[in-house]
Amino acid sequence: MSIQENYNKIKNQLPSEVGLVAVSKTHPVSAIQEVYDLGQKVFGENKVQELVEKYPQLPKDIQWHLIGHLQTNKVKYIAEFIDTIQSVDSEKLLHEINKEAGKYSRKINILLQVKIAEEDTKFGLEIEEAKNLFEKFVNGEFPNVEITGLMGMATFTEDESQVRKEFQKLKSLFDHLNTIRPLQTLSMGMSDDFPIAIECGANSVRVGSAIFGRRDYSI
Ligand SMILES: *Cc1c(COP(=O)(O)O)cnc(C)c1O
Repeated sequence: MSIQENYNKIKNQLPSEVGLVAVSKTHPVSAIQEVYDLGQKVFGENKVQELVEKYPQLPKDIQWHLIGHLQTNKVKYIAEFIDTIQSVDSEKLLHEINKEAGKYSRKINILLQVKIAEEDTKFGLEIEEAKNLFEKFVNGEFPNVEITGLMGMATFTEDESQVRKEFQKLKSLFDHLNTIRPLQTLSMGMSDDFPIAIECGANSVRVGSAIFGRRDYSI
């Protein structure tokens, strides 16, 4: 199937209230432009260097989301233009983003990445750490960021009940924090598991290979 067919198929599967982040990592700017021309404005990349190379070559009204693990020393390269950093997994990183955003007198949207998978390999905050950071934010500690929601990745497994359990865990945390201060975005679900994520309450999904095709190398 072509990129256009893939894109339309995904869009047709998404309820109107569920946002789509088109994950374009490893794919060329020509492919991103093609999806942009179909009306997509929100794209996700997981590496700073790749994003910084692509950014000047593409339309300025794209909302870029950083979805991969971010080292504090690289925040400065994206602080001027990044719309949302979905992968905030430490207090140190949040401090750095707050500092760099301040240099441009702007607010950067943040999702706290929470570790919900049983696998050891996934980055993310423990639930208690996420609550803690959110409280500090609510108390005014990070004035140049806006924590707009949570992001999580489920275990890579065929066991649907486990995936569901992990997504539900994040949804509970989202509902809890939302009573303290309203949140907008619950980002969970990728090409293979986004329908389950939506059933569990996701209102934003991150879909890469189901739109752009398989990546040449695994990330
Ligand atoms: C690569 C990636 C995705 C998209 O994965 P696909 O399986 O290609 O849809 C989503 N979220 C994160 C954090 C990723 O790194």
